[in-house]
Amino acid sequence: MRRRDLLLGGAIACSVGAIAGAPAVLASKKFRWRMVTSWPPNFPVFQTGAERFAKQVYAMSGGRLSIKVFAGGELVPPLGVFDAVSQGGMQMGHSGAVFWAGKAPATQFFSSIPFGMTGQQMNAWLYYGGGLELWNEVYAPFNIVVFPACNTGVQMGGWFNKKIGAMADFGGLKMRIPGLGGKVLSKVGVNVVLLPAGELYMALERGVIDAVEWAGPYHDLQIGFHRAARYYYYPGWHEPGSAIELLVNRKAWESLPKDLQTIVSVAAAQSNLLGLSEFDAKNGLALNDLVTKYNVRVLQFPAEIIRALHKLSAETLEQIAAQDPMFSKVYSSFKTFAGKIDAWTEIGEKAYMEAPGG
Ligand code: CA
Repeated sequence: MRRRDLLLGGAIACSVGAIAGAPAVLASKKFRWRMVTSWPPNFPVFQTGAERFAKQVYAMSGGRLSIKVFAGGELVPPLGVFDAVSQGGMQMGHSGAVFWAGKAPATQFFSSIPFGMTGQQMNAWLYYGGGLELWNEVYAPFNIVVFPACNTGVQMGGWFNKKIGAMADFGGLKMRIPGLGGKVLSKVGVNVVLLPAGELYMALERGVIDAVEWAGPYHDLQIGFHRAARYYYYPGWHEPGSAIELLVNRKAWESLPKDLQTIVSVAAAQSNLLGLSEFDAKNGLALNDLVTKYNVRVLQFPAEIIRALHKLSAETLEQIAAQDPMFSKVYSSFKTFAGKIDAWTEIGEKAYMEAPGG
């Protein structure tokens, strides 16, 4: 048989295994894994993306790696995903690094930070700026191997029941806003609440919280926030491009032959591209529906509020960096890369968008 026939045919498992460099016994071994997520069942883009990922891996591996996906709360609580993968009870997880600030403050850079990079810039940093290596370094003590697996793109600033015209209007608000954005707002008197996606609408509707941020128009419309709040603010200063993560238990990862590891990493990269693209495609349509069908008031935060939040955000980042060496190390990489790519984005996409007819 010519080599080409073997590659195309793949009928004889041991031959294909030999070509891929894996022992025959490993090439025929079947893996049955479980993945837990932080998302409600059928939640668009996130949960559906995790399920598509599992299907792709199954198809590409010829059924050698099958991953059963469980929504948040089905096997472990939505915010118990990291621990479940870290301890090895589950081989995979699908979640957001923003939730794990309590494990290590540096995790937050791998979701999004206030006034940080856009989704596209984040991917540039992760894949080509050393970001992904740092992400794995931060997760290594927890026995987790990580991949970016989606990105929301720039988010909205949140839903409010009253207008935010000055910094004083934040005082006393009970708001769901996780991560460093929440830390910044807590400095101006916001009572910050951390709740999983599945509990947000009821909390807002029942007045347990006064304001909420989740993602962008597409997700927010699906959740139905427009039925419980009237004002929808932009920009999402606190999350300009939130990455979503695929977590793999290290032992489970190391048990995979090289070709299955490659399949997992390729499927994760595809998920990352498709997720960002799906949000971009659907956010515009949803924004139009929110305004024309549901009379939502879309308002921009006043410039002085954004300026004040920017200053507070920079101070917050510096304070944590002074206390946490790993946070400081990642911050330095992030800041250096952001500075360089911003200079390009400024005369690239930004100048194009602001040009007449752009
Ligand atoms: Ca958010």
